[in-house]
Amino acid sequence: MAIRIYNTLSRKKDELKPLEPNKISMYVCGPTVYDYFHVGNARPFVVYDAFRRYLTYRGFEVKYVMNLTDVDDKIIKKANEQGVSASEIAEKYTQAFFEDIEKLGIKKADYYPRATESIPGMIKLIEILVDKGIAYVVDGDVFYEVAKFKDYGKLSGKNIEDLKSGARIEVDERKKSPLDFALWKVAKPGEPYWESPWGKGRPGWHIECSVMSMSYLGETIDIHAGGSDLIFPHHENEIAQSEGATGKPFARYWMHNGFLNIEGEKMSKSLGNFFTAREIMKKYHPAVIRMFFLLKHYRSPINFSEERIREAQQALQRISTAMENIKLALNEAGAKKIEKNGELSEAIQHLKQQAIDELDDDFNTAGALASIFDLVREANLILNKGALAGTDLYDLSQIKKTIEEFDQFLGILSYSESKESSVAEAPLIELLIDVRKKLREAKQWALADEIRDQLLELGIELKDRPDKTTWHRRLKS
Ligand SMILES: [Zn+2]
Repeated sequence: MAIRIYNTLSRKKDELKPLEPNKISMYVCGPTVYDYFHVGNARPFVVYDAFRRYLTYRGFEVKYVMNLTDVDDKIIKKANEQGVSASEIAEKYTQAFFEDIEKLGIKKADYYPRATESIPGMIKLIEILVDKGIAYVVDGDVFYEVAKFKDYGKLSGKNIEDLKSGARIEVDERKKSPLDFALWKVAKPGEPYWESPWGKGRPGWHIECSVMSMSYLGETIDIHAGGSDLIFPHHENEIAQSEGATGKPFARYWMHNGFLNIEGEKMSKSLGNFFTAREIMKKYHPAVIRMFFLLKHYRSPINFSEERIREAQQALQRISTAMENIKLALNEAGAKKIEKNGELSEAIQHLKQQAIDELDDDFNTAGALASIFDLVREANLILNKGALAGTDLYDLSQIKKTIEEFDQFLGILSYSESKESSVAEAPLIELLIDVRKKLREAKQWALADEIRDQLLELGIELKDRPDKTTWHRRLKS
């Protein structure tokens, strides 16, 4: 089955047919580096990271670019408040961004272009727009004349007339229309600036993405992605600028993820109802945050609460526990006993294919995880049998392999190696089993039983076999 994704531009699920066979160019709007990013901001970082890795898993060669907006009103405001330079603020939060995404298990983009390093390209693009009569200069500011781009509104589905009547009364009467937006802003005192044909100034936000996307990936790219709050005006304006200048399609597929809500409202810095990803990661393993996002379809709104995060943690714990128990069972049996007894059981094969079908259908990670939980259930059924035969062991090894394979893009199994997981406890449990064995040899039955009972209370069950004692985490149904 081909991969289909919901394309905001066509308003339907389109089959993903890249410009060049097997190659995908993808641009994701990155952060404005003026603060630590909040959990809502983390959603596009995580879901597009997983999607990009899924494309790689499905055999595409992906070129992935995420920009950093390092010149912006918010950065300048913060710099002035703290009495430091704008570039100091930008540098500090750029570093914090890299630290946080690394913790979140996000694979590095091929490029992280910074706006301030692409200014000459922006000036060049604005010059083209001015020469073509699509942009106009007023007192050192340059505005894009929306009325000159006939396709304006094609992404957001908004129409110019409605937008005009809905627009607030603009203070800036120098603009021909309230919808016209700034490509270049004249420098105010105390602001960072660059020399340009229109005097000292700095670029508008939208032009940054047009230029960085085109210079790193080409005039037409496959996928442009971001949060759904960016559809209008940011992405609409990116299209107007880029296509106005080149006359070519800017991006062929537009992907937008849903909001993260907190008590029904969008989580945002301006509303003040946010938690930074950093804060949450102090309390929960980063894989839990990934799981929290991946449990929902990326386009659905997602409600944030500690309860939901804990649910994600439990879901992850279920997978992680099953994986540990599979490993223990396979270790115990020894590699030689895992017979390749014919075909993989049909149920497992079916569940794996089902997960891939879900992912191919607009990257439905929620659906794919449902199949993974079914695999986990299969594993637990086998594990519950106790004495395992060759086919059972083979099936277990294949379930483990499938989940590990999917982790190439889900990125959640790092949890299994964490302190929160019992894998780290394994050497201690082995030690207690050894102590208990010695106690039994010394006929200290009461103490030996106490160790067994206490471990059971912690969810660890010991099984005395003729040759040795094994353990596993008790399976929760
Ligand atoms: Zn952007």
